Amino acid sequence: MRDKIWLSSPHMGGAEQKFVQQAFDANWVAPLGPNVNGFEEDLKVYLGEEVHVGALSSGTAALHLGLVLLGVQAGDEVICQTMTFSASANPIRYLGAIPVFVDSEETTWNLCPIALEEAITDRIAKGIKPKAIIAVHLYGMPYQVDEVHAVANKYNIPILEDSAEALGSTYKGKKCGTFGAIAALSFNGNKIITTSGGGALVAHTQEVKDRAVFLSTQARDAAPHYQHSEIGYNYRMSNICAGIGRGQMEVLDKHIGYRRNMHDFYINLFAEIPGVTVFKESSGDYFSNHWLSAITINAEEANGKTAEGLRLHLEQVNIESRPLWKPMHLQPVFAEFPYYGRTVAKDLFETGLCLPSGSNLNDSDRKHIAEHVHQFFK
Ligand SMILES: *Cc1c(COP(=O)(O)O)cnc(C)c1O
Repeated sequence: MRDKIWLSSPHMGGAEQKFVQQAFDANWVAPLGPNVNGFEEDLKVYLGEEVHVGALSSGTAALHLGLVLLGVQAGDEVICQTMTFSASANPIRYLGAIPVFVDSEETTWNLCPIALEEAITDRIAKGIKPKAIIAVHLYGMPYQVDEVHAVANKYNIPILEDSAEALGSTYKGKKCGTFGAIAALSFNGNKIITTSGGGALVAHTQEVKDRAVFLSTQARDAAPHYQHSEIGYNYRMSNICAGIGRGQMEVLDKHIGYRRNMHDFYINLFAEIPGVTVFKESSGDYFSNHWLSAITINAEEANGKTAEGLRLHLEQVNIESRPLWKPMHLQPVFAEFPYYGRTVAKDLFETGLCLPSGSNLNDSDRKHIAEHVHQFFK
């Protein structure tokens, strides 16, 4: 049998081992060093705005520290896009705060500005003003930045931008990761670039970045002994991992090109198949890195074919595909928390599928995928 075709697997560019070797040669085998500083600088230059980047151990750590920096405390309420990976919402609970989940809209699959405003006004009417809003660029697709930020600004609530899936995506020419009061990036193994595991916090002032780094290194006061005036975390990125990141930055835009080619491949593949819609940018304002290509299937129009049917069919021939993120308000662990909106996220979950999207897939992989997709729908 041929090798498994993965949804999204690591794809090295070539220079990663050189940076890792440099770390070994200089004995910077620690959670600080030239690669950490270099990787932060690379990200700052890439994001192309006046931002300050702190490299951390994961995207989850960046979201957790982001909430801490926005002043979220136990008992506070934090609005979170319901359709996302659990890592967007878990840090709210780490802090003992209350998640309030909000539905998606149909064009970007991200935070619905109308449901967002309903949630904010209702929470305020109930006596608690939400402390922060977590907005996500799912699968690399920018959320409706102007509309969502207009609502947030109207009520003066900061946005924590979860850009874990959207490094290299832009909205109106501006990079994702630069819109929120604070943003989080992820370099997990399946993301657009990887450090094997890692993340970054994007801030708009040196002061906020420094504070994030301080908290991520156990909040040590300036003293010869170990002295602490606040609770710290062990969230800094390793200099070894950062070396991988520096190598990956050299190929990021090339790999985004490959992912976008995969997306074009699916647009063509499904053009003639009734009932299947490929998730795509709704206008020229949106540029997705197409981290994952996804489809929805209308079973009625597709002669009874379903997303789950396609998933099982592909699994049999060693092609990985996966349902869309299951909304957080439908997860057992978050069932007790408030939810605002309709059934957009739920309907997407029930009809959608993510398809192999890696930058390292080749013509033979695409041929194999096309063959079995055709077989399933015939
Ligand atoms: C991957 C991901 C995260 C978490 O990042 P890690 O680096 O895996 O901790 C957070 N939010 C979203 C939307 C993600 O896809």
